[in-house]
Amino acid sequence: MRRTLAALLSLILLFSLHIPAFAGDVFGQYASELPAEVAIHCSEEALNVMGVEDLDKLVRMVKYRAQPQAAELLRTSFPAFEEAARNNQLGTRIGLNILYDDNNAPMATVVWEKNLDDEDRFFLSYIININAFTLAQRDEAGNLIRDPETGMLHMTTDQTSLDAFACILTHEMMHVFMDDYNRCGMSGVVDPEVEFLPAYPTDEDVAAEIAAYEATVFPRWFFEGCATMVEDAYIVMQQSYDELMTFGGGGLDGWYSPEGLRFAFAETLLPDGLEPEEYEAMADMQSCYDLRVSAYVSGYLACQYLAELAANSKGISACSYTPDGFETIDSAVLRSGLNDILRMLHEGVTLDDIIYSISNGRFYDTEDFERAFIADDDDSAVFTAGLLNYYLRVTRENGRSFPANGSVLYPFDVDYLTQIDCTKNAQSGLYQIIDSNDLVGSTANLDGVSDAGKSLSTLTYRSGAMLGAVPAYGYDGDYSYPGDPAYIYGGYY
Ligand SMILES: [Zn+2]
Repeated sequence: MRRTLAALLSLILLFSLHIPAFAGDVFGQYASELPAEVAIHCSEEALNVMGVEDLDKLVRMVKYRAQPQAAELLRTSFPAFEEAARNNQLGTRIGLNILYDDNNAPMATVVWEKNLDDEDRFFLSYIININAFTLAQRDEAGNLIRDPETGMLHMTTDQTSLDAFACILTHEMMHVFMDDYNRCGMSGVVDPEVEFLPAYPTDEDVAAEIAAYEATVFPRWFFEGCATMVEDAYIVMQQSYDELMTFGGGGLDGWYSPEGLRFAFAETLLPDGLEPEEYEAMADMQSCYDLRVSAYVSGYLACQYLAELAANSKGISACSYTPDGFETIDSAVLRSGLNDILRMLHEGVTLDDIIYSISNGRFYDTEDFERAFIADDDDSAVFTAGLLNYYLRVTRENGRSFPANGSVLYPFDVDYLTQIDCTKNAQSGLYQIIDSNDLVGSTANLDGVSDAGKSLSTLTYRSGAMLGAVPAYGYDGDYSYPGDPAYIYGGYY
């Protein structure tokens, strides 16, 4: 069985190797003049649309400037990551693919894949994809500017666009860090002894496999919430926050109230055709219909609140009041709360148990928290209203260039988008982009680590024995995975 699976997995790997490969024509046409970095990292379509010189600039901006700075920013911001880096529990390399997609594709994504090596040891591989379309020069109306002579696009030089890109890239790198540091919950890796499907699985086998996977993998609101905490979440999702504010008929010059938020979470943001009682806030959190709102807005708010609860359990709070009675929120406290949650997961405490313990039993487990957050819980509604009102107050201060940022990497009131300077060279020992436009195997050494996901923990990772969750497949040899396409491949944006 192991052999069959390994063969299958290597087939899948081979298949994915072929996707980003160049057509021969492109190499033929440009072979002699194509800079090596462009040849390695850029897709044929990107080459056809943006041209060699600009893509060369783009690749270098990502590979030698923005991405290593993002990795260093995360390493130095979270003591848990710093310690993991010292223990080689974070990867040192990753692939980069520059694609071109003008059809609503995100600016950047991280894709991972579960693999088995020749000795059937489980490992994860990952890659960063950057969409060149989102970094093309535009006029003030937002229209693409084409070169009058060649018709090609140029890479943007606009500072705000580059800063926004650096923010998104930091978000993506947070996913990558957690892929290694919190692998169990990120990938749904479960007990290798139990989770190995036979070659011709019965319905019960598959059902058990799905159940184990679902009990292990983090909910989307959690991993997107964590990643959104390290970007300018309040700026990026401004429109959704405005909707939260104005729902119920208020204007944009008002303030958030716990009651208004509870009403919004319990009664609105409904997918078409669903009644409130079928839906409640849980669907918000579980992103059944609108990733943008649920995972990146509700998920962000939920993770900020969990970070505050983690801080509370150490006797501190991010919230304090100025002498004239205004609430202020300390991002550093929330950052350290998030650090503690990630560390606990890494050390094998499940998300269920963390939520139970930091809330002193007020939330029974992850699902209970999803159900109750804001919609049916006063404390979380009060905290969230205070946080959003603080953002509003900062945003409305005179003379600012930007709204409050919402990133726990900086004070919420700094008036810039990022500390990353896309014109400055940098190096990091973590997740260096190597000369590959494909999935690159993680070098993280997790031997002896027993980390946790939502409700289950892994058995201790150990060389030669870790198999992880594996795909089920149809009797005819076609690939089909139980339940979720993310079962073996995963992607985030
Ligand atoms: Zn994401």
